[in-house]
Amino acid sequence: MTYDVQHWIAGAETPGSGSTQPILNPATGEQVGTLHLGDASTVDRAVEVAAAAQREWAQVSLSKRTQILYRMRQLMIEHTDEIAEVITREHGKTVADAKGEIARGLETLEFATSITQDLKGGFSENVSSGVDAHTMRQPLGVVAGITPFNFPAMVPFWMHPVAIATGNAFILKPSERDPSASSIVARLYQEAGLPDGVFQVVQGGKEVVDALCAHDGIAAVSFVGSTPIARHVHQAASATGKRVQALGGANNHAVVMPDANIEFAAAQISSGAFGSAGERCMAVPVAVTVGDVHERFLEAIAAEAKKLRVGPGSDPSTDMPPVITADAKARVLRMTDEAEQAGGRIVVDGRGLVVEGFENGNFVGPTVITDLDATHPTYTDEVFGPLLVVMHVDNFDEAVALVNSSPFGNGTAIFTDSGHYARRYQEEIQVGMIGVNVPIPTPVGYYSFGGWKDSLFGEHHAHGPEAVGFYTRQKAITTRWPAQNESVESSMSFPTH
Ligand code: NAD
Repeated sequence: MTYDVQHWIAGAETPGSGSTQPILNPATGEQVGTLHLGDASTVDRAVEVAAAAQREWAQVSLSKRTQILYRMRQLMIEHTDEIAEVITREHGKTVADAKGEIARGLETLEFATSITQDLKGGFSENVSSGVDAHTMRQPLGVVAGITPFNFPAMVPFWMHPVAIATGNAFILKPSERDPSASSIVARLYQEAGLPDGVFQVVQGGKEVVDALCAHDGIAAVSFVGSTPIARHVHQAASATGKRVQALGGANNHAVVMPDANIEFAAAQISSGAFGSAGERCMAVPVAVTVGDVHERFLEAIAAEAKKLRVGPGSDPSTDMPPVITADAKARVLRMTDEAEQAGGRIVVDGRGLVVEGFENGNFVGPTVITDLDATHPTYTDEVFGPLLVVMHVDNFDEAVALVNSSPFGNGTAIFTDSGHYARRYQEEIQVGMIGVNVPIPTPVGYYSFGGWKDSLFGEHHAHGPEAVGFYTRQKAITTRWPAQNESVESSMSFPTH
């Protein structure tokens, strides 16, 4: 039996514009649900409701807002199994991985529960005699978030807890591939006591995204997804005067220095390359061996890849799940074929894998390729699948140059025993998030997340302190209370202190 997924507007399930799209289970290829798509009129309705709700929400005391967020946290913990199950069904990832993304998303909710601290302004007495100065931060109004398929719980949580805690109303447009987690979150916010209209969900694709970017009633857009769409959203929403943060794609490199513990590095890079079938923006699709460790690393990573059990995310013994769609699988297979035709050595071949009982699933095995030219698209492009390219350079400087030649700058890692090279790497690399002997250096919720270059368009990183800056506007107030009989001669010169 399949289910329907609708919009969540004004605190209730709301039907769509009439067009629908199937929701598929990546492990079986079967339709599990029907998504009701929105259009510009759905966005109009959501913005109208959000604007009215936000005016009242911004007046709700900080302690009351915080209490609602605490209740939401508790409800999310109680409903983790239910949300993880729908994520596994629609996204494909393992249940343990789905629970992991929920826990990481909750870090931002936990950060938002101390918004009382982050919204404190500054105060200075007597900036001039009898004159005081203070600052305060106010919400922007109605803000929107547009999110990718690969983290249907965590990435929206990078946005809405801080947006809501700071007094905004938030409209979420989740990925059309795995939309159900957001519907559950909407229901739980209502149960937690959030007034209707402060958190809403509009389902759909390009039409809804473009309507959100164009709408005059929306003050800011947060986007996470692929680089071409991030660039498009940044341009479209900026053109209508909105504040925009648009996080794009990635092609993260892990550098393996000659002094590294090779077995440790291989195990860590295996989890970065093949965890969640490589469909993480902080995945490690490229390893760069430095000096004479290349063949040793290939042996170690091949051993790790061959250990992995590929299967449906619902099976607790599965290490690596299917990719999201048949197209995504075809892309990994094509990029493997093209690498081979260009002279690449296929060290571990993920092609031709069949999972018994799941013959129609989007399964592809872990793949390791080396001896590829640095201009080959299988190396330069974001594959977003379980495919690791192992490049080789002679020394540290060449490794830095190779990593910095990528147009992406999301995450990177260095595996080494040398503090000297680890420190130089942090300084010289043009990447936003860096791991030292850590393959997926995703910052915790009370730091901010963001890449450089084609991995982020806009000034603000996501979640943590930068999210408070993104979702608020500051005022600086200068105050003087003259005595009733105080007289001062007027001066035409610019005031100094
Ligand atoms: P995507 O760009 O296809 O979709 C992201 C969102 O944009 C979705 O909500 C989708 O409905 C919408 N969209 C798709 N096509 C559109 C179009 N033509 N016009 C307007 N809107 C459109 O990305 P995806 O496939 O869902 O997610 C995977 C991508 O997201 C990868 O590139 C990955 O690296 C990236 N990602 C980046 C980060 C990060 O923090 N930088 C985090 C997660 C995912």
